[in-house]
Amino acid sequence: MADTVHLKIKPKFIKKYRSGFPLIVSEAISNLKDLKEEGTIVKLVDDNNRFIAKGYYGKQNKGYGWILSKQEHEKFDMHFFKNKITSAIYKRKNLFSDEDTMAFRVFNGEGDGVGGITIDYFNGYYLINWYSKGIYQFRNAIIEALKDAVDYTGIYQKKRFDAKGQYMEDDDFVTGERGEFPIIVKENGVNFAVYLNEGAMVGVFLDQREVRKTIRDKYANGTNMLNTFSYTGAFSVFAALGGATKTTSVDLANRSKPKTIEQFSLNGIDYEAQDIIVEDVFQYFKYAARKQLLFDLVVLDPPSFARSKKNVFSADKHYKDLLKEAIAITEDNGVIVASTNSSAFGMNKFKGFIQKAFQEAGFRYKIVEEFSLPEDFRTIKEYPEGNYLKVVFVKKIK
Ligand code: SAH
Repeated sequence: MADTVHLKIKPKFIKKYRSGFPLIVSEAISNLKDLKEEGTIVKLVDDNNRFIAKGYYGKQNKGYGWILSKQEHEKFDMHFFKNKITSAIYKRKNLFSDEDTMAFRVFNGEGDGVGGITIDYFNGYYLINWYSKGIYQFRNAIIEALKDAVDYTGIYQKKRFDAKGQYMEDDDFVTGERGEFPIIVKENGVNFAVYLNEGAMVGVFLDQREVRKTIRDKYANGTNMLNTFSYTGAFSVFAALGGATKTTSVDLANRSKPKTIEQFSLNGIDYEAQDIIVEDVFQYFKYAARKQLLFDLVVLDPPSFARSKKNVFSADKHYKDLLKEAIAITEDNGVIVASTNSSAFGMNKFKGFIQKAFQEAGFRYKIVEEFSLPEDFRTIKEYPEGNYLKVVFVKKIK
């Protein structure tokens, strides 16, 4: 690996880095051109070459790498990563001993001290996500550290920095025993089928655990539920188990139908009593309005950005309109679960979209629940942008 590169930090950013900001951003650096090879160790210094912090160069859409330490002589070896992983595991000890939940995040990037990598746990299996070529240069040390720190059945990985298509290598298996997929994991007593060998989306988004539980325990009973952008139908499964009279799941992807059938079946729910529709959500809204369908519980969980044949959806531009479509087919006193994982805006702006949508639709509303990332998706106060999830339960009032 190349020698350490000294990055000169512009004066107005120095305070920010001294007080713990973890992300290396281009606007803060005067000699960006000195960065050549991802994985290079970088030292942040001021104009007088005084040490500020050190980390690594790795390109992500967010920035140019992450600070890992404020100790000038720290080495980023297996010992360093093992300390980070061990302390992250310790912070999840309640989840490890929870018999009803076997899937959660054990290491959340900068929230656990190493930006650019996450590790999830699925009933004995560990899944590492590498978010840059830079952090992937440390793979030997990190994998050795993980093997040393935990009891595992098997370890898998996703190289999230690779261009689509060229990324399946050895079906993402790293070490230990190969899984027989799907492996079945429980979350609050509910079964999920998980595939660690099929690309980045493994079957369940772990950050919505508390939202799913809340839907099942407090909102689903007796409702006619609509789940848009439903993927494997996780919200529908929880709603059905919570007593929804019927669920309707809508997703554009063909794979969503067999995957949703699989999740219902794993939980003893008759999928034929549910609607599972492969269609563009925006088309479905038109259909539902025409047929005057009304729902008591509507989940909106779009990707931050999506392009379909007829639509381009970008959460920061179009969420308000999406809400208006949902409001039109929600019963009075019905609840809309508005969710977004867009890091382009925060909770206040999101609530602004909600306010505007109801105002334009001519209805009053009441916010009845709010969620951000759960505890296992640790974030740090020096980098609140890391808390990307925003979920608001809104009751429509006539
Ligand atoms: N709510 C899901 C996760 C959604 S992931 C869960 O809790 O598991 C985003 C999903 O949106 C993907 O499955 C994708 O196929 C789907 N999608 C993207 N654009 C869409 C559109 N215009 N209409 C319907 N589904 C869409």
